Formats: sequence, structure tokens, C-alpha cells
Amino acid sequence: MPILRQIAQLGQPVLRGVAGIIADPSDPTVQALIDDMLVTVADANGVGIAAPQLYEPLSLLIVASRPNPRYPDAPMMAPMAVINPEILWMSDEKEHGWEGCLSIPGLRGLVPRHTRIGVRFLTREGETREEEYTNFLARVFQHEIDHLHGIVFIDRVESTLDLITEKEYLRRV
Ligand code: ZN
Repeated sequence: MPILRQIAQLGQPVLRGVAGIIADPSDPTVQALIDDMLVTVADANGVGIAAPQLYEPLSLLIVASRPNPRYPDAPMMAPMAVINPEILWMSDEKEHGWEGCLSIPGLRGLVPRHTRIGVRFLTREGETREEEYTNFLARVFQHEIDHLHGIVFIDRVESTLDLITEKEYLRRV
């Protein structure tokens, strides 16, 4: 049975480390971790989560965009596991958007991200995929892949004036 995991909060060193490559996606411990991540991100109303946020320094993330109370305008998609992702290319064009993070509750930041990216990764079945993502999904991928390199969204804001509380954010939307 999948286990609802505790989410590492900002200040935990695991959030600032570099995640290791997964050699064998079919490893039962990797498959069990994916199942735990799926229930944990759904329970927390997240649109994505990275393994280091569950104290597992592995190159693995879940993208699970759907409208929810934290992101009312998120597009609907089937949740998917993304293993060993590499960004192949990024558009020159960027756009600013509000981000939050399950590891930094109560805060939102206006973060510039590339509007289009190409990503190569392995699925949980071990198949190689190359996909292009745009706008909100490109943002989620960039946010989660940052976690695999020890980077969090507050590192990406251009000014501390671009940080606001979650309560203030929800009042504005
Ligand atoms: Zn995050």
C-alpha cells in the first residue's frame, strides 16, 4: 500500500543537494517510491513533487497538473512519473508566473520561466520519452527539475518584492 510521506521543509539539507541518477526504474523500491509520491502530491494539492522533497535524493519527479484549491487554473492531465529528466532545449522567451512549493508553505513568488522546453526522461515502465511542454506544464517541469539540483523557486525570483504570502495570493486570484 502506498504511504503518505512527510514533505521536507525548507532548511532540510536534502532540498539543497543534487539528486542521483536512477539506474533501474523497475527496482521495486523505486516503484514503491513513485506510488508514495503519487498519493503524497495528491493529498497535498500539489501539481508536482520531486523525490528530494520526500527525503529521497533521486532523480525522480511526479507531474500531476489538475485544477485544485492551490492552483485553480491548472490544466488537467493524468499524473505521471518522470525519471532522470534532462532539459534538451529551452525557448529564449520567458514568462513570469506565480509559484508555490510544498516545501515552502505559505509563500508565493513571481518566477520567470522559459515558456517552452524539450525534455528527455524515462517513464516508470523504463521507456525513453522526448516531449515538448509549454506554459504551465513547462513551468512545473522547470520547478521540479530545479529540485533535483538543489534549487527552489525563491532562488529564481528577481526581487524579494516578488514574494508574497499564500493568503495574499489567494486574495488576488
Ligand atoms: Zn517545489
